[in-house]
Amino acid sequence: MGRVREAGTLGGVWPWLVGWALLCSACTSVNPYFDPSKAHHTPQGFRNSDGSTGGKGLGELLKWYVERTLDGLPKPPSTHVNGYDFPQTRPDLAFLHANRTEPTLTWIGHATLLLQIAGLNVLTDPHFSERAFAVQWMGPKRRVPLTVKLDELPRIDLVLISHAHYDHLDETTVEALLKQAGGAPFFAVPLGVERWLKARGAMRVQAFDWWQSLRVAGVDLHFVPARHWSARSLFDRNATLWGGWVLRANDFSFYFAGDTGYSRDFIDIGERFGGFDLAAIPVGAYLPRWFMKDQHVDPDEAVRIHLDVKARQSVGIHWGSFELTDEPLDAPISELAQARSRQGVDASSFVLYRHGETRRYPASPSGLIPAQRPQRPGDEAPAASHPLRAGAPLSIRPGMKP
Ligand SMILES: [Zn+2]
Repeated sequence: MGRVREAGTLGGVWPWLVGWALLCSACTSVNPYFDPSKAHHTPQGFRNSDGSTGGKGLGELLKWYVERTLDGLPKPPSTHVNGYDFPQTRPDLAFLHANRTEPTLTWIGHATLLLQIAGLNVLTDPHFSERAFAVQWMGPKRRVPLTVKLDELPRIDLVLISHAHYDHLDETTVEALLKQAGGAPFFAVPLGVERWLKARGAMRVQAFDWWQSLRVAGVDLHFVPARHWSARSLFDRNATLWGGWVLRANDFSFYFAGDTGYSRDFIDIGERFGGFDLAAIPVGAYLPRWFMKDQHVDPDEAVRIHLDVKARQSVGIHWGSFELTDEPLDAPISELAQARSRQGVDASSFVLYRHGETRRYPASPSGLIPAQRPQRPGDEAPAASHPLRAGAPLSIRPGMKP
């Protein structure tokens, strides 16, 4: 979610409120993908698997802003770090550039991860800008600096976008990726987001509905549901879809939950895929619960997701970067630890990385969950293999009802 008060006064809030009012009143889009047989499709856009449409109304937004202003929230971090002095590290760039075989994950910040899987360099929700908004002179500011620049990373083969909110889909970063040395990456995006990318010159982009999949250069890529919403302008509320991504190679499986509230979707994902070696699950931007619960999990719900999807190990994302909500930026550190102990999950099974940290996940045939085929009747393996070359043919497998 990309809305926040910039300073401690209500003065900076009015543009947001006006925008919100228009957002809530305007619903002029027509959904070109509308399929009445799919419960999450509507003639105007999309909704969650339980029928909810996410987000809040203007009255609730006003109430939140008044309360947080009166209470002086969010407080700066103080429990685990001094101010915004989070422990940081520089990725081992020489290793990341040379690596073609070992699964690795690097937390760059917020929901931006560099995943190396089956020799591919994959970026999730790439955001390397200073603010999570349409312009760089207002909106949520990055509180903890990045430890690596986009052009220092290995060439990116594949970009995964979870949804169109500004803290997950950053125009400046996408433009830089389109111009990267060696050619633009392949973009895998939710339905509707491909129009935004193509308008910016992206040629290699494919939109996915929930449960659709594609084999990409030896990796099975699946788009899966989340409980959220989308909006990027005053007139596109829920006009584009949202969700998470599953990647399965022969020796490693990974789940990226994107941005989400809690729902039954995670049990479905766990049942369908039979578990993951590693999952990236949001743990931040969760207070106040009365406002955020529909769209953002708290650490307790994040641990439930970890259990529901049967992750061997999980890493917390969507925290420690942009001050989007009422909890201090370091709150997930202790809240996640308490949530783990309440649910009997040991500390090594759901971790937080330092900003910029890389962890290596050496494949071991005896120790890792094998990449399974989908489990349900009607499920099939992805139909075709796409080598990620420009001009190569694509074949998306049709969506399936869970
Ligand atoms: Zn969002």
